[in-house]
Amino acid sequence: MNIQTGIEPILREIEAREDEIVALTQDLIRFPTINPPGEAYRPCAEFFGARLARRGMKVEYVRAEGAPGDSDKYPRINVIARYEGSRPGPCVHFNGHLDVVQTGAGWTVDPFGGLVRDGKVYGRGACDMKGGIAAAVVAVEAMIDSGIELPGAIEISGTVDEESGGYGGVAYLAERGWFSKPRVDHVIIPEPLNVDRVCIGHRGVWWAEIETQGRQAHGSMPFLGDSAIRHMSAVLEKFEHQLYPALAARHSDMPVVPAGARQSTMNINSIHGGEAEHFEGLPSPCVADSCRIVIDRRFLIEEDLASVQGEMKALLDQLAGERSGFRYKMRDLFSVQPSMADRNGPVASATASAVRRILGRDAEIVCSPGTYDQKHVDRIGHLKECIAYGPGVLDLAHQPDEWVGIKDMVASAKVMAVATMDLLSRG
Ligand SMILES: [Zn+2]
Repeated sequence: MNIQTGIEPILREIEAREDEIVALTQDLIRFPTINPPGEAYRPCAEFFGARLARRGMKVEYVRAEGAPGDSDKYPRINVIARYEGSRPGPCVHFNGHLDVVQTGAGWTVDPFGGLVRDGKVYGRGACDMKGGIAAAVVAVEAMIDSGIELPGAIEISGTVDEESGGYGGVAYLAERGWFSKPRVDHVIIPEPLNVDRVCIGHRGVWWAEIETQGRQAHGSMPFLGDSAIRHMSAVLEKFEHQLYPALAARHSDMPVVPAGARQSTMNINSIHGGEAEHFEGLPSPCVADSCRIVIDRRFLIEEDLASVQGEMKALLDQLAGERSGFRYKMRDLFSVQPSMADRNGPVASATASAVRRILGRDAEIVCSPGTYDQKHVDRIGHLKECIAYGPGVLDLAHQPDEWVGIKDMVASAKVMAVATMDLLSRG
């Protein structure tokens, strides 16, 4: 059978397997794979691997020994399954993270129950991203079951720790060649970016702590000391009048959604100054000798990390020249490089045309405001051919009563099948 003419029966088969997609989503939700600390990783990976092994896929488990958080109690277990086609050709890899964030407050349903109601499956991870993983699995199973002679290879991986940076998951595997040519050619990550969007990348991240330093004195004679909090207020003034307007003026060609994130942004995550918090009773009168903020700077593909850091340092150095006694320390906490695939490259264009075929409308090409595992495929695996495409609704990720739409899962499974067949047939 020819893979172009063979697609229609596969699409009908995916349609007929709607209940299977739902059941698999429920099964995955029922593993409470909360990260941190990394609960239930092993049973979830083994369930996932056993399912794919039944289709004749070669299944391998890779524990990220020594990765952050890895221990015998909380092993970082990743699972990779590969289906080898009947002749040489490209490899299409579906990667999903099996971990979920903590439940938090506000749930009206059991977060690990997998409730089905009104065409939706509910639970922590339903949207981000167990529904997307279930869609990819059923799409691949339908292709394998069709008996079509597929060239190349199809892989599916269930990885861990995406929610905490991916170091025990995709980064660990990428360092060992699992996300590089010649093993893999195209990667599709079914993260929740909406069923009709193809996500080609994400902005960069820089987290840092900035501390202003002062000198302690009695609070009734503040002129004898030097307030680190007042120095920090000067920093915040500079942000308001100088940095924020500069960031807002820095527009990107990255099609980031929502549009408010189509520029450089910075959040101040926290501020602490003076006396430590959480004590009983009344405070004592002291001039603050230290004030700290943690910043979360999101930067664009048009910027680079060194210039982002340099901009902050220049601002603080400028203050040191303007304010007497101004002293600061800046400490890097974390950074991620931005990543963007070619929107006209094979994986993005094949997925976009599959969206058009299945949904009857043009796919929106977007970038994510936050980051996901694409950074590791790109920067460590040196594979630019990586996108995110999945059925979940972006805004629902990490929220209470998270859900994924059943019709969207079925549609996205069809899109994934069409895109895969297209990529494999291009040779
Ligand atoms: Zn996710």
